[in-house]
Amino acid sequence: MDFPALKEFGLQDYPFICAQCSYCQIGHGACPTYKVKRTDSYSGKGKMLLARALILGRISPDDGLQGLADAIYGCTLCGGCEEVCQTDIPFVKIYQVLRGEFMKRGMWPENMKLAKETVLKSCNIQGLSQMDRIEGWSYWTPNEDDLLDKQGQPADTAFFFGCSSSYRGVSIQATIATTLILDNIGEEYTILGEEEYCCGAPLIMMGDFEGARTLAEHNIAKYKELGVKRIFTNCPGCYKMWAHEYKEFLDIDHGFEVLYGYEYLADLIKQGKVEFNTPLNIKLTYHDGCDAGRNSGYYDEPREIIKALPGVEFEELPHNKENCYCCGSGGVLRAFDHEFAGDISKLKADDVNRTQADTVSSGCPSCIEYLKDQLPQGGCDKVVKDLMVLAAEAMGLTWDGLDEIYE
Ligand code: SF4
Ligand code: SF4
Repeated sequence: MDFPALKEFGLQDYPFICAQCSYCQIGHGACPTYKVKRTDSYSGKGKMLLARALILGRISPDDGLQGLADAIYGCTLCGGCEEVCQTDIPFVKIYQVLRGEFMKRGMWPENMKLAKETVLKSCNIQGLSQMDRIEGWSYWTPNEDDLLDKQGQPADTAFFFGCSSSYRGVSIQATIATTLILDNIGEEYTILGEEEYCCGAPLIMMGDFEGARTLAEHNIAKYKELGVKRIFTNCPGCYKMWAHEYKEFLDIDHGFEVLYGYEYLADLIKQGKVEFNTPLNIKLTYHDGCDAGRNSGYYDEPREIIKALPGVEFEELPHNKENCYCCGSGGVLRAFDHEFAGDISKLKADDVNRTQADTVSSGCPSCIEYLKDQLPQGGCDKVVKDLMVLAAEAMGLTWDGLDEIYE
């Protein structure tokens, strides 16, 4: 059987490369969905075998397509299989392209259709108004006027907030922290505010590449109007879009330099521009979000920031860096099956509980929001704080909502 989308992206031969060694199921870290389901099709190996059997006609679409679809959507796109597999199969890309294939065959799950409609209608995954995009942080942040004045102003550098970091209670803490840090040291940047649209990551993760194009083109056009040359974002999902996936899936070459926000901060620290003067007095551990870590390779920069923070005793998670467990919310799994995502987060809670840390941090506002929500349900009561927030606190910066902003 044919998967035209796999052919279009030159991926049709990869399912035949898998050597069936099962390392993607049992390797250190490896696949969180397999760890929860203990069913072959929820690992890289199982998905490659199903795709192979379908391509060769060994099973019919009636037997196998729904099973493959369930497994393809029941995946956090965490890249764990790509990390442990000794072949060069681009698993995450294959899963996204197959999701697109299922969309074209009318096999998209109902909640994916709803999510797509929401993003395209509202220009954000939350389904809220664009006005609300500035409501949360502008209510809490002490630099509200300065920040609102930056909206739509020409500048070389732009801060792309991302939907989570604009709307979601806990996630906007990192947005506020970032703007306070940058304003404190006199860095210039512009923001789009109400004119910022979703980067399109949810659509690309769901396999609707053309839907994502309209959103991407809007933001790119706005930045070109403002003369922007460099974009930074705290959201590793947005980062991945801007840095790689517009080119990979949409063939868009926007020409901007793209920085991950925590890479930007690590660089400012290296340049001596950031001064930490307030000991935090915490025992800290760190969660490498999948899109920042495995899918983009940012392991050192967050640890450079942590090293520079005063009063921090740092302990790695048992599964860290390339072996770090997904928090459970990746790959739009939360929209597809929130209970399944919740079960995955319990793996993370166990891992965090195995440290002596009193605080868990991450360089991903979306992971922070999910960890804050889910860790207590997995029996883990550690404090959850974004690394950008810890950095702001260590600079002596504070704001009214620091301990108050929740969903
Ligand atoms: S680790 Fe790679 S080669 Fe081994 S079973 Fe998994 S996908 Fe196949
Ligand atoms: S991307 Fe992650 S969740 Fe999906 S199959 Fe690979 S290891 Fe499992």
